[in-house]
Amino acid sequence: MADTPKKCAHPACQCMAPANEKYCSTTCKDAGDMVEIECKCGHPACAI
Ligand SMILES: [Zn+2]
Ligand SMILES: [Zn+2]
Repeated sequence: MADTPKKCAHPACQCMAPANEKYCSTTCKDAGDMVEIECKCGHPACAI
């Protein structure tokens, strides 16, 4: 029942995903099957 935001399912991503989404963005969703050391979603939380 909880609809609190949760972290994006991408291991390297620091973003919060929408309550009804596993990933914060399609970028992370597309990368979800790959183990990457950095996130390329472009959100400020992930910008290095
Ligand atoms: Zn990210
Ligand atoms: Zn993400």
